[in-house]
Amino acid sequence: MENFYADIRKQNYPELMGNGSQGHTPEHSYENPGLLYMETALYQMPAAYAELLGNPGTGEIHGIVRFYPVGGGILVNAEIYGLPTDPQSCACDIFGFHIHEGSSCTGNESDPYADAKNHYNPSHCPHPAHAGDLPPLFGNNGSAWMMFFTEQISLPEILGKTIIIHSKPDDFTTQPSGNSGAKIACGTIVPV
Ligand SMILES: [Zn+2]
Repeated sequence: MENFYADIRKQNYPELMGNGSQGHTPEHSYENPGLLYMETALYQMPAAYAELLGNPGTGEIHGIVRFYPVGGGILVNAEIYGLPTDPQSCACDIFGFHIHEGSSCTGNESDPYADAKNHYNPSHCPHPAHAGDLPPLFGNNGSAWMMFFTEQISLPEILGKTIIIHSKPDDFTTQPSGNSGAKIACGTIVPV
């Protein structure tokens, strides 16, 4: 395992593998990948991002999703504002969140993001085993922030695709998209 993390460090922190004269923490050994992930998010530029926007029908949703390749996977960070809120007790402000195969956040009157098409699913698996199936967003009075690590997508394959927020939670069961309701915000993934 030591070599595994050394390789990750070499790949992601080449400046830390020299004489240690530059970089923030040259002596770190990264026995814990969580530390590597947190430092990547703190000190590295994302390699790609998507700026998400709602539409006149869904209000003022806006935010950014950042992608940081690290090790054999990608760190995904979502920072979203203006999500719908439900004041009823026992309401859950949880929103399905997926990468879609389409490349455009355009559509029609009944589905403003119809051209985002279906969940990204190159292996033709059932939901929620689509490569584009992501953890849901948990809203906190209209905002959401999360970060997770995944090896199920790579940067080259997601560039130019879309990322969508849905109006309801993903039930992780119903085909083909987890019964997660309407698409309420969309962004296209572009390189930094
Ligand atoms: Zn799916």
